[in-house]
Amino acid sequence: MKKSTCARCGACLAACPVYSMTKHERFGPRGKNMLLDTALSAGTGAEKPSAAVTETLKACLQCGACSAACPAGVDVRGAIRRAREHNGHDCTVPSWVWEVLAARGLTPFLARIISGFPGGSGIIWRLTGLSGQEGFTMPDLAQTPALSSDRACTSGVPLAGKSAGLKISVFVGCVQNYLYPEVVEGMFKWFGGRISIPRGQICCGMPAFSSGDREKALKFALRNISVFREQAPDYILTGCATCASMIRNWAGLVADVPEAHSTAVELGEKVREFSRLAWELAVIPSPEDLADVERVTFHAPCHQRFELGGAEVTEDLLQKMLPGKFTDMTRECCGQGGLFSLGHPELSGRILQKRFRNCRRTGATVLLTTCSGCLLQLRAGAGSMEDGPQILHIAELVNK
Ligand code: SF4
Ligand code: SF4
Repeated sequence: MKKSTCARCGACLAACPVYSMTKHERFGPRGKNMLLDTALSAGTGAEKPSAAVTETLKACLQCGACSAACPAGVDVRGAIRRAREHNGHDCTVPSWVWEVLAARGLTPFLARIISGFPGGSGIIWRLTGLSGQEGFTMPDLAQTPALSSDRACTSGVPLAGKSAGLKISVFVGCVQNYLYPEVVEGMFKWFGGRISIPRGQICCGMPAFSSGDREKALKFALRNISVFREQAPDYILTGCATCASMIRNWAGLVADVPEAHSTAVELGEKVREFSRLAWELAVIPSPEDLADVERVTFHAPCHQRFELGGAEVTEDLLQKMLPGKFTDMTRECCGQGGLFSLGHPELSGRILQKRFRNCRRTGATVLLTTCSGCLLQLRAGAGSMEDGPQILHIAELVNK
């Protein structure tokens, strides 16, 4: 790693959700970047940062706000992730969970096991070590994960207009597969019956990638690339902005694997976050179809804001579908940040509460998003409030 060109201007501080809560230089992007630069100057390199540096680097959501705000083009988020890679990855998730997420054939088996646990017991979350923040309502695992269900493949109407004849393959992602298959169902209703879910797909690899486990992320990418190569889709549709970002990252991950690289580049160009593809192909429900929907606002996921782009497209879509019912809200992080919410539950919860305060100011009773991690975080938080908003993925509007 090279020393950065940071000018210490501080423009990144205001953008950083962790700094905005802690007001501590060490936890801001400038401080983290200085720590990395100092380690490099001292000759120890970011390969072996001290324990204090490691702890500081963990306090990062990998949201990307700092990199987007930096006038000198310093990619602080990338530097932090690379330092995590060099320093040994920081992963709160037990290794057997990764094996489940990576196993093609385990989904129906897992569903049967899950069905043996009483709903709401929380036992699965405790077993996996993912029990979440104090007082948060963690969801039950779906009895029928999206990847083992036929129901999502049978609803809807054939694609028409701009999308007629297109081949659209769905990347489901772990959260929508195991926790929220109703989002996948909503996407099928919305886009029609000719989109398909390729079997054999696994986790996109983002949790491993952002926590610094490049080897595992590479393994996941290679598996998925081979699955989607066989499909040769016109588009990959995903209901998760974070999965879409990771699919774009596959090309960089497999840069040294010639037989996978060109396909990964192609898949990265074809992937679309759900609302983006709905807008591009003009597959948009009419306001009359959504007459029962109450006042809504939209939480733009960080991976959409800083990697994919298109938060304003989603807002335009909602404005068109829900005239007079949609109010935009400030664009900020929800505090989920992949494994950040597990390692820093108190800080994550404070960032989330700020989000709910801003939501309340819009007067909306429904808070929409288009990312699985945000959905998990927002639902967990809202579920523990007496007057929390209803949290929905945009695709679920057509399920109402
Ligand atoms: S990636 Fe986000 S949380 Fe991490 S330092 Fe940058 S702005 Fe802060
Ligand atoms: S990382 Fe960029 S924005 Fe932050 S202090 Fe350095 S030059 Fe300024």
